[in-house]
Amino acid sequence: MTTNSSGAESIPSPHDQLTAHVTLVANMLGASPPRVADHTVAGQNLRCLQLTLPGPVSLLLVASAGYPLAAPLCLVEGPDGAFRPVALPWAVEKSSERCLLQALGAVIAPPLDAEASSEATFTSGFGLPGAPGLLTTDPDRAEQAGWQPRISPQSATDLAEQARQARFSRSSGLLGRDLEQARVVIVGCGSVGSNLAELLVRQGLGHITVIDPDHIEPSNLSRTTYQWSDCGKAKADALVRRLMAVQPWVVADGHCADIHALPPAQIDKLIDNADLVVGATDDPAAQNLLNRHCYAAGIPAVYLGCYDGAAGGEVIMVVPDAQTPCLRCAAPVRVQLEADAGQVGRNRDYGSGRLEGVVALGCDILHLTTMGAKVALALLCRQRRIVEAHLTTWLDQLLATNQIYLTASMEPDFWFYPRIFTDIPGQHAWQSLCLAVDGDDHCPVCGQHRIDPHLRAESPDLAALRGTTEGA
Ligand SMILES: [Zn+2]
Repeated sequence: MTTNSSGAESIPSPHDQLTAHVTLVANMLGASPPRVADHTVAGQNLRCLQLTLPGPVSLLLVASAGYPLAAPLCLVEGPDGAFRPVALPWAVEKSSERCLLQALGAVIAPPLDAEASSEATFTSGFGLPGAPGLLTTDPDRAEQAGWQPRISPQSATDLAEQARQARFSRSSGLLGRDLEQARVVIVGCGSVGSNLAELLVRQGLGHITVIDPDHIEPSNLSRTTYQWSDCGKAKADALVRRLMAVQPWVVADGHCADIHALPPAQIDKLIDNADLVVGATDDPAAQNLLNRHCYAAGIPAVYLGCYDGAAGGEVIMVVPDAQTPCLRCAAPVRVQLEADAGQVGRNRDYGSGRLEGVVALGCDILHLTTMGAKVALALLCRQRRIVEAHLTTWLDQLLATNQIYLTASMEPDFWFYPRIFTDIPGQHAWQSLCLAVDGDDHCPVCGQHRIDPHLRAESPDLAALRGTTEGA
């Protein structure tokens, strides 16, 4: 309050209130008093304050005569010198002074309070409101992840190193930090692909590319990692944002594309330098296409697929440098099992050739997904030569004997399992087997006379590749 010439108390003008409140913030953070300028824009008188924090880094606050009922416009100076707007959370029921302090806490980390250090030096970048520190100084990466401009006494580099140390603290001896250098390409971002991507990134995978042509529908939410606000968005883009929210330092890129519709050279480019490719599509043709490209490029691959109703499923690993048979060669194993014990494969959608979407429990699909994730982690440790990882011993034994076909049941007495475990007590659901696959010397993918994957459907040589496998 101030006192006017007649001795009565008067309420400071909105602009003076803002100046007083920002000056208080400046004092708390060891900054110089704000620079003040008044402008008239479209007939409105505006007060502009530039607050420069030690660093230096600046933010602008612009208030109309509606302050403090209306929030000031806030613009934060980025690492590139550009000022970007930030919407301030505005709780008008609080005192106007507290309201501004709390709102600026969404921009300046740590939250402003009486304990805030006046010794701090600040840098600017991008991050999440309410979360500590800066996550990046790259505006493009911030836009990809949906992060907003922020100012913090802790640099993005410092926070990344802290997070890196914590990331592997619970997997010491099981995995290795070199996993951060590994790159995985996941084709198919549905229930299997989205969950598997998140599992790998949570475990420390550093680079990931995800590919899917579809958009998210409400029916997808029951068994994927997506949320309601993702509906209508491309699965690949939403998954990238999800993965960056889980592990902000992952390098992730998404492609809204049907792998089967891409030119061969573009497929090669997408999988180039990958340590592992995961085929998690519901399109057998796409799985077979990946098999051809990955085997020709010498890239290990894992192919996952659920049986009808997710009562069971399979994980097939193909490792060219271990000279395992390929996905095409694994198909006869399923054919033989189905001939003996009944069909478990899903029907194809007439027209698209894709497998029909099935009614199934998310937990059953997740069961298969976690199997696939463990195989993927083992293959990554092998690929990156992470010698301290215990997973590779288990994997080497399977690869040496071509036991590359993992099949699992999620229900009691499913398929051929009762015959295998007939004399073993206590056998109900969640049975699994690793089956050996015989290589075919005549296989055009992994045999003696391989066909170049760049040949497309018009080539008569590809007749041998069609219809031979249903894929996973
Ligand atoms: Zn083969």
